Amino acid sequence: MLYSEQVFLVAGLSRSGVAASEFLIEHGATVYIYDDVEDANVQSAVEGLKKIGCINVKKEELSEKTAKCDVLVLSPGIPVDHPLPVAFKRAGKRIIGEAELGALNLRCPCVAVTGTNGKTTTVSLLECIFTTAGKKGIACGNVGKPITACLKELGEDGIAIAEISSFQLETLYSLRPHVAVVLNVTEDHLNRHYNMDNYIYLKSRLLKNSAESEYAVLNYDDPIVRGFREKTKAKIVWFSLRERVEGAYIQDNSFCWYGERLFSADDLILDGEHNRANALAAIAAAKLMGIGNAAIQTAFKTFRGVKHRLEKVGEAGGVTFIDDSKATNVDSAIKAVGSVKGESVILLGGKDKGYSYEPLFEALKTSGVVHAVIYGENAFRILNAALKVGYSAVTLCRPFDLAVRVAFLIAEKGQNVLLSPASASFDAFSSYEERGKRFCELMEVFKRESQPYVKAEASHGEDE
Ligand code: ADP
Repeated sequence: MLYSEQVFLVAGLSRSGVAASEFLIEHGATVYIYDDVEDANVQSAVEGLKKIGCINVKKEELSEKTAKCDVLVLSPGIPVDHPLPVAFKRAGKRIIGEAELGALNLRCPCVAVTGTNGKTTTVSLLECIFTTAGKKGIACGNVGKPITACLKELGEDGIAIAEISSFQLETLYSLRPHVAVVLNVTEDHLNRHYNMDNYIYLKSRLLKNSAESEYAVLNYDDPIVRGFREKTKAKIVWFSLRERVEGAYIQDNSFCWYGERLFSADDLILDGEHNRANALAAIAAAKLMGIGNAAIQTAFKTFRGVKHRLEKVGEAGGVTFIDDSKATNVDSAIKAVGSVKGESVILLGGKDKGYSYEPLFEALKTSGVVHAVIYGENAFRILNAALKVGYSAVTLCRPFDLAVRVAFLIAEKGQNVLLSPASASFDAFSSYEERGKRFCELMEVFKRESQPYVKAEASHGEDE
């Protein structure tokens, strides 16, 4: 693409929109910028981008300016059926995402990771593995560092470890990873993609450009992902928690790779079966990129996980607080209750994404969760699911702060308060990070309030 000859409209000015605009200006393009949100973050992004030559478009000027543009760079946060991309499409113009700009300009090998859950954990673990091995592996993409912002640092000798979401896949056409990893596909984002078929199709698109010389690392245990073997020309490498597959698996509590025992599965610091699955995917990708066993093992022994993912954040009055605010769908919350040790009071709720919560309550029945405190915009949908499956240890309490306090009051000394909400945060917060931060702040308040008082052991009904 000859950028200097093109006029772009960058719509949505979060991190990736800003990075795309900066990249395009640097390459001589004319760049219009637009965001219909007018908060402080957007304001400061607009001011910064105006200084480097971008032209800010006001709402009332949008159709006039759109007519002058050749290409729309659409934020992953804006759906492709929004009126703005629809207008571009009707006019026969191109719509791409920031990740597509990145893909078109990558000069180094790429390991790309998608899936409903575990992407950030896996790309972060892979970054740790590559760094330990002395390679310039950079986690980028949906993980928070836009690909275009990493291009210079990556150069020709780096390795792009790209986290790719389904939102990005809507406007990504050219990425051709040397290793493409699909971790799992479970219900999520149905409010955006309308049905599972669309969502599954989008996820499979990560594999569509791969040739016979490239690799697809697929989860053998996930029936949807297993079906992706039909969607690609790439060589298939499996990973599995249950079977001895052609690829990465666990046998006799050891990580194995094509018949070779690598090292003990206990070397992985991260808790939970789901993290063992992420680790197997990382082993496969690392081995295919030529990394030695020692570096993988050292990384597994040092990598402590990512914030807001099953993170033990502290204690108040003898109750442990676990921040799993990034559990924004049912499967991730099911994995959380399956991995947290001991008994927990779980906090559930937020913004609905259109799926069923019933499997979660089925899972709660056989887990260490003793009570669910339900809050947020979708509280009644969640409550209905609980009642439908006959799970009655629930308290409905709508505002988040109060819900956390109620969960703390219900939890007995030695139990956990687990924030694993199975819902997005946008009903009350700007992000899952903010929700997790608020959870920690409240824990600090309870800590101060509990001193020197420490929660008493359960009285088991004795009268005083
Ligand atoms: P993503 O980037 O795909 O959202 P994260 O690594 O940020 O994934 O984890 C998001 C949530 O999913 C966290 O609650 C985490 O504990 C959970 N999780 C991580 N890996 C998996 C997995 N393989 N399967 C199910 N849930 C997972």
